[in-house]
Amino acid sequence: MKYLEEFRNPELAAGLLADIRATVTRPWALMEVCGGQTHSIIRHAIDQLLPEEVELIHGPGCPVCVTPLEVIDRALAIAARPGVVFCSFGDMLRVPGTDRDLFRVRSEGGDVRVVYSPLDALRIARENPDREVVFFGIGFETTAPPNAMAVHLAREQGLRNFSMLVSHVRVPPAIDAIMASPDCRVQGFLAAGHVCSVMGTDEYPELAERHRVPIVVTGFEPLDILEGIRLTVRQLERGEHTVENAYERAVRPEGNPAARAMLEDVFEVADRAWRGIGVIPRSGWRLSSRYRDHDAEHRFDVTGIATREPAACRSGEVLQGLLKPHQCEAFGTVCTPRTPLGATMVSSEGACAAYYLYRRLGTPAAAQEASPVG
Ligand code: SF4
Repeated sequence: MKYLEEFRNPELAAGLLADIRATVTRPWALMEVCGGQTHSIIRHAIDQLLPEEVELIHGPGCPVCVTPLEVIDRALAIAARPGVVFCSFGDMLRVPGTDRDLFRVRSEGGDVRVVYSPLDALRIARENPDREVVFFGIGFETTAPPNAMAVHLAREQGLRNFSMLVSHVRVPPAIDAIMASPDCRVQGFLAAGHVCSVMGTDEYPELAERHRVPIVVTGFEPLDILEGIRLTVRQLERGEHTVENAYERAVRPEGNPAARAMLEDVFEVADRAWRGIGVIPRSGWRLSSRYRDHDAEHRFDVTGIATREPAACRSGEVLQGLLKPHQCEAFGTVCTPRTPLGATMVSSEGACAAYYLYRRLGTPAAAQEASPVG
């Protein structure tokens, strides 16, 4: 398939790998902050093809996984209310809250619907003027513009029964927090190409300079990822720390101005909690006061939520890159995609799901033994 197979060409991949091998002289740890890249890396065994000096650490790049348990519990409480139609992308339905998930709410009579676009939720609001329609707006800079557009249109069209439960997060403050952590081992970043296609690259030079860390904007296909790694390793070996763009076919320095304008109109930057990490200053968006009428947090008084993380789940360490999924005791035993303990095993972008799907290795001990990424 043109435009896809050409970025999976084995000969070109071998050439990039040879270049990386020829360049690297000592150990380096690189982090990707994108669940799509994590899945591509594991699916195509890129981490196993790299020279042993290059370690890939999977960062908090899965939007479902970083959504705080408190927000999920709030969504569950809203979805269970009579008169509410709760709309969400399919991934969120199986994410466990403290004592149930959205599927359970639906089985108990809640009107929970899977939609493929926030505009579907707008249509449902239009068709059901006597119901409160709530859309669960989560994710990074990639999903934020269409969600902002939906809220903008709801206001423009006078759809007073439409609201959004917002938990949007931004990648650059997360990179800042990861680098500031005393446990940080990361020496270079593969920046998420889709995020940069929206936001551009102007937030990264200051981060690269302050933390003296190379940041390479990277795509999602195997050749994209290998090229991102090649450029990052080349910078590290040269003692450089600049921002490079290895995904020029999709990313311009200024990003997508129309999308950015929509974000500025509808959202305002706010502190956000990241699941497994905690609150990161200015790392997210909330609806601005002009759109308060469409903010589900203000429309529904959901208080008294007491969250309880499953004791066996170590997804916080997975999300910070401190633990590989197969090193978790519950991986593949009590925790599987059918019986997930944490969001990282549920989401199509979660690291635990990627390891389970493409590299299921039985017990943690067997996994450690068989995998070179331990
Ligand atoms: S394998 Fe399951 S229990 Fe372990 S960190 Fe991943 S989601 Fe949590």
